[in-house]
Amino acid sequence: MVVGEFTQETDLLVLGGGPGGYHAAFRAADHGIQTTIVEMMPSLGGVCLHRGCIPSKTYLSMAETIHTAERSKAMGIDFGSPKFDLDAIRGWKNEVVNKLAGGLDIVAKKHKVDCVTGKATFEDGKTVGIEGGEVARIKFRRAIIATGSRSIELKGIQIDSPRVLTSRTALELEDIPKKLLVLGGGYIGLELGQVFAGFGSSVTVVEMLSDLLPGVDSDLVRPLKKRLKEQFAEICLDTKVTGMKEVKDAIEVAFEGKNPPKSKKFDKVLVAVGRYPNSRDLGLDKAGVEVDERGFIKVDKQFKTTVPRIFAIGDVIGNPMLAHKAQHEGNVVADILAGKNEVFEPRAIPAVVFTDPEIAWAGYTESEAKAAKMDIVVKKMPWSASGRAVALGRTDGVTKLIFEKSSNRLVGIGLAGVHVGEMIAEGVHALEMGSVAYDLQKTIHPHPTLSETIGDVANLVAG
Ligand code: FAD
Repeated sequence: MVVGEFTQETDLLVLGGGPGGYHAAFRAADHGIQTTIVEMMPSLGGVCLHRGCIPSKTYLSMAETIHTAERSKAMGIDFGSPKFDLDAIRGWKNEVVNKLAGGLDIVAKKHKVDCVTGKATFEDGKTVGIEGGEVARIKFRRAIIATGSRSIELKGIQIDSPRVLTSRTALELEDIPKKLLVLGGGYIGLELGQVFAGFGSSVTVVEMLSDLLPGVDSDLVRPLKKRLKEQFAEICLDTKVTGMKEVKDAIEVAFEGKNPPKSKKFDKVLVAVGRYPNSRDLGLDKAGVEVDERGFIKVDKQFKTTVPRIFAIGDVIGNPMLAHKAQHEGNVVADILAGKNEVFEPRAIPAVVFTDPEIAWAGYTESEAKAAKMDIVVKKMPWSASGRAVALGRTDGVTKLIFEKSSNRLVGIGLAGVHVGEMIAEGVHALEMGSVAYDLQKTIHPHPTLSETIGDVANLVAG
């Protein structure tokens, strides 16, 4: 380990070079603020680029290609069985990540943002110590904490074994296990489960709660569930894991609950039960920065922590833990530091589950609107009525709009189907603009596209 000896000074120090950190840094530099990022990894991009969004979506697009080829048989085209070259697959993923990381380095230089490598820890409210780099210490006038999150470990259950994976080690794709157990029916578990199933693993998912993707409207989850039932060996709801032990060539797992899997032995186990903020080990107490009971850094509407010169954004301040939320928070905090009186008050933060079929939603879900006792009108269109979906052979989808009854104002949108992640932005824009059903109905959608279904559903309300 290199132990640095230099002390640097900076106006703005950004801790963490993920989407929150680098967007904040680039924008602050644009405002003429002298900015330094300190990042533990050798390049910028954070979890999102190196261990999350980008590698997972790269593999998912391969899994989708395999699925498309399989489905083509029904259309009279037979590509035969896929053959896998794991080195080439990993190589492609690395090429994607490196290309994007290289781009970020160029942008950082262009913005004259100084990038320091190492692990930062607060020594007091004005100084961080840096471990593992050439710079030993940085004194700052203002700081933004954007240190992100990491996978939750199942304390007392999860064992330390190369056969027990986190999303990070799973994305290294060391091999394709014959039998993979995925713990957690949230989006990370399902996305990675589909990647491995696409590459030939027999996948079992175990979820403690009574449905997959807790919190998402069940009618949106249905098309995915139908596909997963064909693709996965078992989906075990209302079931939890109570123990793991390494046996010969496998992990033996103990379960408790209504639907334990038939098999107890798996080649590998992927633990995807949620994420925890990276707020421990930062020396926050030395700086006077407070966290809540779950470890999220406490901030006000302008991202100020309990120390007014220190701000925090991204996963480390709370849900939704999404890259685009971190990015927008980064931009807003940079504007605030430049003297603008901004707050972060989006009407909607979209969420996308990049499975096949995908699920996307924004604004109120139907269950949230009902829980809030809102007077709403909900209209849906199954994709069997969409010309584009029929032509694609992908009628496994639904478009759903939620309107306030009294005004016909859009309050929520939910989509399921292929590539709905590309469609949700129209709904987000409509929510931000306070659109009513009439606005969506009168918006001319190109034909034949899946996006037409949004206009068609609005038509059911606008008349
Ligand atoms: P991060 O991206 O976590 O970056 C924080 C950075 O801080 C890291 O690079 C870390 O090395 C660094 N750091 C931490 N502590 C220190 C320290 N003490 N000193 C120096 N550096 C430090 N989100 C989406 O929106 N869409 C998706 O499709 C999606 N898919 C995902 C798939 C997976 C498998 C995972 C795990 C996550 C996914 N996410 C997705 C979530 C997304 O990655 C995060 O919401 C996003 O990266 C948060 O950005 P951030 O800037 O807050 O933190």
